[in-house]
Amino acid sequence: SPVNGRRVVFSLQLQTVTLIPGDGIGPEISVAVMKIFESAKVPIQWEERNVTAIQGPGGRWMIPPDCKESMDRTLIGLKGPLKTPIAAGHPSMNLLLRKTFDLYANVRPCVSIEGYKTPYTDVDLVTIRENTEGEYSGIEHIIVDGVVQSIKLITEDASRRIAEYAFEYARNNQRNSVTAVHKANIMRMSDGLFLRKCREVAENFKDVKFTEMYLDTVCLNMVQDPTQFDVLVMPNLYGDILSDLCAGLIGGLGVTPSGNIGANGVAIFESVHGTAPDIAGLDMANPTALLLSAVMMLRHMGMHDYGKKIETACFDTIRDKKVLTGDLGGKSKCSEFTEEICRRV
Ligand code: NAD
Repeated sequence: SPVNGRRVVFSLQLQTVTLIPGDGIGPEISVAVMKIFESAKVPIQWEERNVTAIQGPGGRWMIPPDCKESMDRTLIGLKGPLKTPIAAGHPSMNLLLRKTFDLYANVRPCVSIEGYKTPYTDVDLVTIRENTEGEYSGIEHIIVDGVVQSIKLITEDASRRIAEYAFEYARNNQRNSVTAVHKANIMRMSDGLFLRKCREVAENFKDVKFTEMYLDTVCLNMVQDPTQFDVLVMPNLYGDILSDLCAGLIGGLGVTPSGNIGANGVAIFESVHGTAPDIAGLDMANPTALLLSAVMMLRHMGMHDYGKKIETACFDTIRDKKVLTGDLGGKSKCSEFTEEICRRV
C-alpha cells in the first residue's frame, strides 16, 4: 500500500506446522483443512509426518524420530485420529504423544453451533482435563491370577499446574468461573490432593469465581442445564468422560475441537473423534472437528483474524444447511462441504 508516496511491501513470514494426518478418515479431513487454509491464504506451511508405533531400544514404544524432530522444531501440531489396538499390541499413540511432549492440559471448548439442532442451543463451556496422570498413568499389574490392579496417580505438581492453567485460561478468555470436578468424598487422598491444589490456586485468582462439585452432580446438572457451567477443571479420567458428554450436547464428536497444551511451548490440536473406520475412504467424513481444532491452533498462534474468518465460513455453511455431511443431517460429501467453506472464506 502507498505510504507517504512510496510503495511498501509487507512480507509475512510463513510459520511451519507439523501435520499428523493420522489413520482412517484422518487423511481425508486433513486434506479438507489444508484446502480451506489455502483458500483463506493462511500464512503457514505444513510439514507432514506419520505417526506409526515403533519400538526403540529395549522394546520401548516410541513415536517416529522424524515426527519428534519436527514437533521439537515447529512446536505446533495439528493431528487427525490415530487407531489404537484393543487390549493388546502397541499402546495408544495419542497417550505416547502426550507423554513425549508433556501435553498436560487437554482443552475442549463446547459451544452450540447456531442453526444446528441439538437439545440445547446456548451451551458455551470449556472442559480442561489433566492429561498426564490419574487412572491413565499406565500403572497396571496382576496381583494374583484373576485379580488386577490399576493405580491412580495424582501429584501435587500436576494438580497445581492444571489448576493454574484453568484459571489463566478463564482470565485470558473472559470467562467468569472455574469449577473443580472431583470425588474427594470417596477418593479422599487422591482427589483430596487435587481439590486442595485447586483451592490454593483459586486464592491467587480472586477475579475468577471458584466453585467445586462432585463429578456425579456435574453429570446430573450438565444434562439438565449446561448453561450454568463455564470452565471446568478435572483429573484425567473424569475429563475424558465428561468432555464427551459435553460434546454430545453440541452435536457430537464430529463438531468438537480440542487442544493439548504442553509445558515446554509445544501444543497439538486434534479432532476428538476416532478414525471412523466404517466411513474411511468414502468421502463421507465431516471435517468440522479438525477444522475447528485448526482454528483453535490459529488463535494459539496469535492469528485471530484468520481463525475468525475460517470459523465464520464453517458456521455459516452449517447454518445455511444446503451443503452438509451425513452426520450433520445432509447428503453432501466431505469434498463438497469443504468446497462450500472454501467458497465462503
Ligand atoms: P469413532 O469416533 O472413530 O467413530 C464413532 C462413530 O462416529 C462412527 O460411526 C463414525 O463413523 C462416526 N464419526 C466419527 N468421526 C466422524 C466424522 N468426522 N464425520 C462423520 N462421522 C464420524 O470411534 P471408534 O469407532 O470407537 O474408534 C475407532 C478408532 O479410533 C479406534 O482405533 C480408536 O482407538 C480410535 N480413536 C482415536 C482417537 C484419537 O486419535 N484422538 C479418539 C477416539 C478413538
